[in-house]
Amino acid sequence: MQDDSGRVNGIQVLGPEGFEDIAARSVVLASGGFEANAEMRCRYLGPGWEMVKVRGIPYNTGDGINMAINVGAQSHGHYSSCHSVAWDMNAPAFGDRTVTELFQKHSYPFGLIVNVNGERFLDEGYDFRNYTYVTYGRALLTQPQGLAFQVFDQKIIDRGLLRDEYWIPQATMAKADTLEELARMLDIDPDGLVKEVEGYNAAVRTDIPYNATVKDGRCTEGLEGKQDELGGDSRYSPLLRVGCYYWHIIHIRWRQN
Ligand SMILES: Cc1cc2nc3c(=O)[nH]c(=O)nc-3n(C[C@H](O)[C@H](O)[C@H](O)COP(=O)(O)OP(=O)(O)OC[C@H]3O[C@@H](n4cnc5c(N)ncnc54)[C@H](O)[C@@H]3O)c2cc1C
Repeated sequence: MQDDSGRVNGIQVLGPEGFEDIAARSVVLASGGFEANAEMRCRYLGPGWEMVKVRGIPYNTGDGINMAINVGAQSHGHYSSCHSVAWDMNAPAFGDRTVTELFQKHSYPFGLIVNVNGERFLDEGYDFRNYTYVTYGRALLTQPQGLAFQVFDQKIIDRGLLRDEYWIPQATMAKADTLEELARMLDIDPDGLVKEVEGYNAAVRTDIPYNATVKDGRCTEGLEGKQDELGGDSRYSPLLRVGCYYWHIIHIRWRQN
């Protein structure tokens, strides 16, 4: 509601009894962001964002923001960025209150992330998970099919390094004894994957002992053409050689803070 000068002087609400006008000196809009509005995501964040999964509720469609802007409010905030992370590709389109955030997959610093061609495209161990996870969703979205796969080997499982979210029944996961077998199960290019993992393993500084709890400096060296692209500054790089390989199919999830 506005007075003749355009000043907001109340709000009209719709309740069980119908519409009601409430006069007020000021109105605080607390209707969330626009994370559940595919059109607004695409408009402000860019192409492809209309296809992502939303971790939160389906009701935050930017109504409050649009309502305020339509009566002359000044826009404010970081419209072109968001919190986006690895999220199970088979998760529902919006958050599930029984599973909550367990669709996320955040143990990636202890494995590799590859696309459907079997290629890495970011530095999994650039820093501790807390400092990287909200920024990696955008990188996943740029990959073919907006998909990526996390791969771990047996020693990561044996050391208990996978978070609880990897063991929920809803997790999309495959397991095989060889990389080729696993790649075929998931329709990933087997040659591309084997080449990538072999190249990666050969580049890991095995002279530095692996310690998953600190930035141990065990990085890759000499990954041709990859070092700059991936950051080249891994603080910890596990060798993927032991036992079975586990894959998690991940998509991205998005929410607006
Ligand atoms: C699974 C999950 C985990 C999170 N974990 C963390 C965390 O660990 N730490 C952290 O800081 N943040 C976390 N967040 C983010 C945090 O929850 C949000 O930033 C915060 O809740 C935003 O508060 P808000 O009041 O602005 O909006 P919301 O809490 O989203 O509330 C908006 C409300 O407005 C209602 N609404 C929307 N449109 C309309 C309309 N047209 N009419 C009437 N009502 C409407 C919605 O139904 C909703 O109830 C998490 C979010 C999710 C989804």
